[in-house]
Amino acid sequence: MERPPVRLYSSPSIIALGHLLNYPPVLLYYERIMILRIPRPISAGIILFYKCSGECRHCMYACSPRWIADWMSEQDLERILRNLSGNIKGVPVEPYGIGPFNGTATGTRIGINYGLHLTGGEPFLNFDISLKAAHRLKDYGFPSTFVETNSFWCTDDHTTREKLILLREAGLHGILVSVNPFVIEHVPFERIERLVRVGSEVFGNNVLIYQGYFYHQFKQLGLRGTLPFDEYIKLADIRSLLNVELIPMGRAVYRLQGLLECLYGRRRAEEFFGESCVYELTRPWHVHIDIYCNYMTGYCGGLSLGDVRDLDSICAGVDLDDRPILAALVEDLR
Ligand code: SF4
Repeated sequence: MERPPVRLYSSPSIIALGHLLNYPPVLLYYERIMILRIPRPISAGIILFYKCSGECRHCMYACSPRWIADWMSEQDLERILRNLSGNIKGVPVEPYGIGPFNGTATGTRIGINYGLHLTGGEPFLNFDISLKAAHRLKDYGFPSTFVETNSFWCTDDHTTREKLILLREAGLHGILVSVNPFVIEHVPFERIERLVRVGSEVFGNNVLIYQGYFYHQFKQLGLRGTLPFDEYIKLADIRSLLNVELIPMGRAVYRLQGLLECLYGRRRAEEFFGESCVYELTRPWHVHIDIYCNYMTGYCGGLSLGDVRDLDSICAGVDLDDRPILAALVEDLR
């Protein structure tokens, strides 16, 4: 069995023998250093803002219009990009040197788990910052770059096209359009359709619809405007929701308790004893870096492995001795 990337050292020296006389049996304390080795990231999302135009029930970062409008400073962005450059991998290319399916040049095809993307919150709440960031991604030559959005800003064709062209001219390779039964509660479907249509004119095949299942379902339903979730589950089979990547974290555990239980059953905390999150915590693909420079792997929102401005130190190994929550997740939650 492959060993997890955790090194446990036990010092040969016993540093305390306990109170031999008062507390039989003898209490022994061992010095122990536990280091979590972190590989350098190969694909990442940069969370430029936590503020969002809406408040999806399932949002893993609990984004909302109520967040303060903090955004990543240009200095921090610069340091982060410098630290990431050289490691980020684009969508693999065909042996003959062009991207699969659409003949785009090497490194310009986009894929959800490749390259570098700008995300939030909602990046289009501050288009100037997102545009500047797109320019910097190009300056560093990152492959497979895209911006993720819920389409709230696509109120007409002209504005939509204008912003997308500016992003393309800044060097961005594509866009990701979020579509699911939670986004549709606050974004009219016409705006999502518009972004997919105009986005395809501007970026060609480099428009990712996440998730396509819901985009087609809403089209089949002939949806116009927004749709409250209670109405959605009357119209669609509840098992449709198995197609959402519903991760029981962030806002979902508060706002979707009953639904999560219905879809996946209820499990007692003890059932997770003996499990380790080491794979998620050391996963190098699709990591996230937030406006406060937290380095978050897997889909582990809120669990920071350190300050990404010092990525070298994180990748040299995270000392778990003074991080009891991370240590428990790596070893055992018991
Ligand atoms: S649109 Fe995205 S970032 Fe905004 S609340 Fe929904 S899931 Fe979160």
